[in-house]
Amino acid sequence: MEQKKYSKSTEAVWAGEDSPYFKGAATTPIVNSVAFAYTDLDEWYDVSVGKSEGFIYSRNTNPTVAALEEKIRVLENAEAATAFATGMAAISNTLFTFLKPGKRVVSVKDTYGGTSKLFLDFFPAYHVEIKLCETGNHDELELEIDKGCDLVYLETPTNPTLKIIDIKRIAAAAKKVGAVVVVDNTFATPINQNPLELGADLVLHSATKYLCGHSDAMGGLLAGKKDLVQQVFHFREINGASLQADPAYMIARGMKTLELRISRQNESALKIARYLKSHSKVSDVFYPGLETHTGHEIAKSQMRGFGGMLSFALDGGYDLVEKFLPALKLVHLAASLGSVSTLAGPPRTTSHVELTTEQRALLGIPESLVRYSVGIENVDDLLSDLEQGLDRL
Ligand SMILES: *Cc1c(COP(=O)(O)O)cnc(C)c1O
Repeated sequence: MEQKKYSKSTEAVWAGEDSPYFKGAATTPIVNSVAFAYTDLDEWYDVSVGKSEGFIYSRNTNPTVAALEEKIRVLENAEAATAFATGMAAISNTLFTFLKPGKRVVSVKDTYGGTSKLFLDFFPAYHVEIKLCETGNHDELELEIDKGCDLVYLETPTNPTLKIIDIKRIAAAAKKVGAVVVVDNTFATPINQNPLELGADLVLHSATKYLCGHSDAMGGLLAGKKDLVQQVFHFREINGASLQADPAYMIARGMKTLELRISRQNESALKIARYLKSHSKVSDVFYPGLETHTGHEIAKSQMRGFGGMLSFALDGGYDLVEKFLPALKLVHLAASLGSVSTLAGPPRTTSHVELTTEQRALLGIPESLVRYSVGIENVDDLLSDLEQGLDRL
């Protein structure tokens, strides 16, 4: 896959699947071996010290995991990639690799719940300064970056109100002060957005979501500049948050249909957002594909599709959510996202459960908000399901 550039749908199927290690296999096998044996001690030594390619011990690298790493490397157009046990392992390993006492991070208030917990509950003890800006406020982000910082951490679109950050603009500000730019690309996936091409140094994913796509395996992936990825890889192989061969296979298998799923989900989410926007019982719809969304123009310039995530506020209080959600038939009321089946839940119960009503209001999250992760079902079936649910209000 080195020489010729293929389209994303082709890369999703073929990248990483041509390892000489598995010559002739029609799919990447699951190698559950913990260690890899050598008959030649010199060869073993050379692989151990990184002089030649090979596998030693699966906490470091494993053939099935390496195939998955190659798939995301190609899809994100990166120099290197490495895998983790979960998305949070990818995030925490990346942050702990680059942050030491005295370092300063600029990020936003709307990062994934676990990420903001790292920033607010854990890093202060390590004397790392964290500045969280208003998510849509690019001027504030630039101002804080200009003051000097070591790492800029972004997520776009964000959870749950799908705010959009201009990656190119913020990466340019970060370059001026020499900060490493990390983007959580979980919501967009490499089908809709490639942060490295917009100036980011590292891109990471909760592979648990769209990449796997079937709610049946957890994993995290990091891709980007080789020297940076290698530093994080080294920390991960030592602290041990490594991905196992079984979930690596599940994620790589899921990724083969990523482009198909994302195309469908992009299309369905836009139709659903437009339908909800015109409904009298819905007071607000958050979807970057809507012309009325505050981040629409930026999203149009940096995304190839607007994604399968949307949220909407029912015209009233939380009591409406209590009536509406249980009435839906084609949905799992669950915390995750990005699966073949539609998932939904109130941020009040899921991602933002630990905040008070007032804190949620400050983040622009109304109590009547519903987060809706569009699956690959027939969109007319989803629309009529939503309709019968709204009819009960
Ligand atoms: C779920 C999620 C994570 C964390 O991933 P896990 O695999 O659950 O650890 C990080 N970022 C975003 C945007 C997510 O949705």
